[in-house]
Amino acid sequence: MSQPLTDIVGLTREELEALLESLGEPRYRGRQVFQWVQARRAVSAEAMTSLSKALRGLLAERVCVGRPGLARMQRATDGTRKYLFRLPDGEEIESVLIPDEDRLTACISTQVGCPLACRFCLTGLMGLRRNLAAGEIVGQILSLQDALEPGERISNIVLMGMGEPLLNFANVEKALRILCDELGSSFSPRRITLSTAGHVPGIQKLAASDLSVNLAVSLSATTDAVRDQIMPINRRWPIAELLTACREFPLPNRRRLSFEYVMLDQVNDSREDAQRLVRLLKGIRCKINLIPFNATPDLPDRPSPRVRVEAFQKVLQDANLTATIRESRGWDISAACGMLRVEQEKK
Ligand code: SAH
Repeated sequence: MSQPLTDIVGLTREELEALLESLGEPRYRGRQVFQWVQARRAVSAEAMTSLSKALRGLLAERVCVGRPGLARMQRATDGTRKYLFRLPDGEEIESVLIPDEDRLTACISTQVGCPLACRFCLTGLMGLRRNLAAGEIVGQILSLQDALEPGERISNIVLMGMGEPLLNFANVEKALRILCDELGSSFSPRRITLSTAGHVPGIQKLAASDLSVNLAVSLSATTDAVRDQIMPINRRWPIAELLTACREFPLPNRRRLSFEYVMLDQVNDSREDAQRLVRLLKGIRCKINLIPFNATPDLPDRPSPRVRVEAFQKVLQDANLTATIRESRGWDISAACGMLRVEQEKK
């Protein structure tokens, strides 16, 4: 083969219009191809039967529909499903579907592994293998949609799987544009949440972009001394700088930032921590998700006892902050927060 095939799952509507134009076709054909890939979930050019046979043949010589291959699905007793995808280069990533009363949330990955090495996160133990391409991010949603049961629809997307989305900004941004395009999956940005460990330049870039997705910030400590220890990214962008970026983040009417706080026994869960958190978040329109730590033998910390999580929540609530305790979902299949990790290749 002379040229590698372009993966059209990662192309925006505009890019497909330009591609079809370069093949001597009218631009609207690009929109048709976009719809075939993103809305009708065609997996090959041959399947795009509203195009002429000649055009399908021409496309097949240049492009591919690069869907991540589904290697395994596991179902937790609480209904959470975890999907292992294999990428063309052999790397593997995980995505999770979390059904709730009226919602079905897809939790997707943005990197293979992660370079940030948060002390409480299993993905961090992998290190960074590579960024995902835009098509590999979008492809997770398309493949999850293919795997849905009758009557199901993905209602929300959270970028809380493997990786730090803001370290893969360009591909994440493009993927979100594709997922929100009304000719494709047509997600509303308000149903998408990007979660960051606190990459300040990325938060500023997101603030300056016109992508109006929700932002969640994983804070998990109230002093730099502790945060430096459990989230090494804090040494580069300490709490004060992070919260300044949060204060400057534009929030559309009635929307709020989210802060996530993983509760670690005797590390960040004292009454003083809760009181400091109240002071730190003063003036920021936000809600706080307290996340019970999902412990495993490979991680050094222990979870805070439930009574302490509830006492922490009460301090926040008494100060008129919205604070919820996130119920752990999918723990029995290692699909819960921070548990996504792909096993080392078997020798
Ligand atoms: N890199 C991004 C998104 C991936 S982590 C970020 O840091 O936000 C998604 C969420 O899972 C974060 O809030 C993180 O703090 C939390 N998390 C990581 N490991 C966890 C664990 N072992 N138990 C509970 N939550 C964890």
